[in-house]
Amino acid sequence: MPAMQSYKGRFEPTRFEDLTVTIDFRCHSACRFCIVQEGMNYFKGVPLEKFSQVVADNAKAPRYKRVTFTGGEVTLDHRLFDYVAVARESGSFEHIRVQTNGRLMANKAFAERLVDAGIDEYFVSLHGHDAETQDYISQRKGSFDEAIAGLEHLHAMADRGVVIMTNTVMTTLNAAVLPDIVETVRRFDPARMEFWNYLPMEDFGDERNLIATVEQLRAPLNSALGKARDYGINALVKYYPQCLLGEHADCMDNAQPDVVIVEDFYEIYPQFACMWEAKCGHSDTCLGLHHPYIEKFGWELEQLTPVPRTTPWREPEYGLALPTDDPHGRNLAAASHPDWASLVDGVAERTGTRLSDLLLDRRHCIFRYALGGDPEASVDIVLTTRTSERRALARTRSFNIHYRNVVNGGGNEQALREVVQAVIASVTQRDLGTLSLDERKGLVGPEAFRRQRDQRFDKVALERK
Ligand code: SF4
Repeated sequence: MPAMQSYKGRFEPTRFEDLTVTIDFRCHSACRFCIVQEGMNYFKGVPLEKFSQVVADNAKAPRYKRVTFTGGEVTLDHRLFDYVAVARESGSFEHIRVQTNGRLMANKAFAERLVDAGIDEYFVSLHGHDAETQDYISQRKGSFDEAIAGLEHLHAMADRGVVIMTNTVMTTLNAAVLPDIVETVRRFDPARMEFWNYLPMEDFGDERNLIATVEQLRAPLNSALGKARDYGINALVKYYPQCLLGEHADCMDNAQPDVVIVEDFYEIYPQFACMWEAKCGHSDTCLGLHHPYIEKFGWELEQLTPVPRTTPWREPEYGLALPTDDPHGRNLAAASHPDWASLVDGVAERTGTRLSDLLLDRRHCIFRYALGGDPEASVDIVLTTRTSERRALARTRSFNIHYRNVVNGGGNEQALREVVQAVIASVTQRDLGTLSLDERKGLVGPEAFRRQRDQRFDKVALERK
């Protein structure tokens, strides 16, 4: 049976207004499923100078509203405060977030120091509901108690604007206790609880038996989501079939932020597929199953229940385009990106067309126009960063412009041409150099790899071929 391959673009960084910066990958826990231990040890942290450059760019042409520091356990690295200072002093971010296991915040003075430094959002990993489960998973005795003490200290600073979110990686080790984790966490008033299905980054054969089946996760996950809803906690799920979330289908969110790291980072992510992709109304937001899952457990055709599509299926070409990651809201609606939409203000009215989509990722801004006379006919007008190295239909102050993906062009050539020309004229007039796209792949080069990278990374790459 041919595999219905989900498009790779979905794993492009697509949460346009969020930036993730990896500082280092050391950690004092050793979670049994950890993707850092598995796959990300290939990468080094981003040098402070490189980060400062990105921040300076952001101050000049604001794009990112939030910066998240992550890696292994970033709070172990005293340089974190230097990075945070650069971010804070630039004044160009609304929020500064750390992704953390929360253990060092058991020290109240340290938790306060983080808050004093300007970090207002704490994305705390909690993979078990009690010490026995969490300490087994983290392979560090006391890690649960420390994280809970850390959460207490952070919660006590809620009046200073401290926002708590939690992250739970779902594996066979905690599948049954997901609802209990909600019970454990609720007293800290988290703005959001995230449940990420485990993704193997290296153990593709799942020799450690960490991949939980969709059926193993289904009841406890839905119960956890129900509890979260009842307690007024936003919940979010990644990498699990949307059709199995029942009334919680709107919790699905597979978007990723922009990552200041080599682009190859995304090459080691597993790919996804679903046999129902062309039939299912969720397939624009749902990834289906990852390949190691399919290899081990099959396509789950009996379990997955596609919802009927209301629009015809088109081979998806671009990733999801979402705005900034507001923990208080779900942000699942298509982004409007007003600054970018204003580049083409009035074009639809003047040409009798409809701007049916505005898709934004780091490298592209795509305006999709449907024709008024033939709504089945459309064209994508694509803005990329200005460069003379590539052919373009037009160049404005900041952008190259070209068009692609003409649908039902036959007989509509004139109308399609008019809208393309109108967009070019509009963007040329309104591009004042305050918006920018980035062509640099992942923003840092090969220096971000550790030395052993070649051998191990190439092994992964080879297995993919
Ligand atoms: S059937 Fe639809 S919702 Fe279910 S896994 Fe496939 S694409 Fe996702």
